[in-house]
Amino acid sequence: MSNARSRNLDVLVIGAGMAGLSAAAALQKAGCKAVVIDKGRGVGGRMATRRIGAATFDHGAQFITARDLSFADVLENARTAGAALEWCRGFMADADGHARWRGTPGMSSLAKHLALGLEIVQEKQVSALQQMTDHWSIGMADGETWTAKAIILTAPVPQSLVLLEACGIVLEPVMKTRLSAIQYERCLAVMAVLEGPSRMPPPGGFAPTQGPIAWIANNQLKGVSTEPAITIHATDEFSVAHWDQNRDETARMLIAAADEWLGVGIKQFQIHGWRFSKPKQTDPSSCAVVSSAPPLVLAGDAFAGRRVEGAALSGWAAAAEVLKFDSDSSASTR
Ligand SMILES: Cc1cc2nc3c(=O)[nH]c(=O)nc-3n(C[C@H](O)[C@H](O)[C@H](O)COP(=O)(O)OP(=O)(O)OC[C@H]3O[C@@H](n4cnc5c(N)ncnc54)[C@H](O)[C@@H]3O)c2cc1C
Repeated sequence: MSNARSRNLDVLVIGAGMAGLSAAAALQKAGCKAVVIDKGRGVGGRMATRRIGAATFDHGAQFITARDLSFADVLENARTAGAALEWCRGFMADADGHARWRGTPGMSSLAKHLALGLEIVQEKQVSALQQMTDHWSIGMADGETWTAKAIILTAPVPQSLVLLEACGIVLEPVMKTRLSAIQYERCLAVMAVLEGPSRMPPPGGFAPTQGPIAWIANNQLKGVSTEPAITIHATDEFSVAHWDQNRDETARMLIAAADEWLGVGIKQFQIHGWRFSKPKQTDPSSCAVVSSAPPLVLAGDAFAGRRVEGAALSGWAAAAEVLKFDSDSSASTR
């Protein structure tokens, strides 16, 4: 990880979530130098793990599934490195036998593992993009200006569109209509430290079918936390309705709604609002090529599946698009 002041790059990957890390790894494997930047303090994006005192919480993505064989290999390699393991094969009535994976100890550990060997610059936000003849000029919120021959942008699609529009980058009408239609669920996530073990049975995850709670997880049973620690995810409907309400009061409402699964008191809690939680619908393509000369490609879970695996597949697809352009332009200059 580094703290550069201004850079001239081959490829800039914006976002160190699963899509950005996967894109950068694919580019690096193909011999292309890529730098990943993220406005956040850590890597992982929505694969997030937070501590409150001695308690640890996965408060974004809860588990990972793999349908694609290459992505399954990524998880197996992470298992070998001690950064991921199979959590369970389903939850209570929904135990369907399909493997659910998690990072170990938490989700962000998997992201940290995937970031090994990549150049990642943290706490740096892209605020402007300007298309030049054969490269992009990138303005950072801290005033620095970088250049890159290609960009992969992995922010949630509505945020990417705001950035592109603010920079005067015009999308083809069909693409604009397609991408503007992508909406995301919101999720208010409560992290509560319990006074003792909860009533939840193994494996420690459960998706209620009624009420304001979409998901509740016992991070201690899951193996993420040494202390009793519960993550509660509100439904999209509840989150939208309470987004602008007092957050502590909203957290207390969700804790009260979870009472039948807790059975013990709460020592302390925090609440986090995911404005862009999961896409409500996905684009039919696995990434979006906004410009091919110089390349600007949008990637993320809105393209290849509204889950961690989809973000990885989209990142790989975006890397392939950039490499295709790279080989096309090398061929034309031969
Ligand atoms: C509450 C919740 C529960 C979920 N549960 C599951 C689950 O159980 N299973 C599952 O598979 N998926 C789940 N998901 C979805 C999963 O987390 C996402 O599909 C996946 O992590 C998305 O990865 P990404 O790389 O596309 O985006 P992100 O992880 O959002 O990464 C984008 C990154 O871009 C950075 N960024 C954005 N704009 C800028 C900028 N201008 N400059 C610099 N950096 C920028 C952000 O800081 C962020 O780190 C859940 C998500 C949430 C929020």
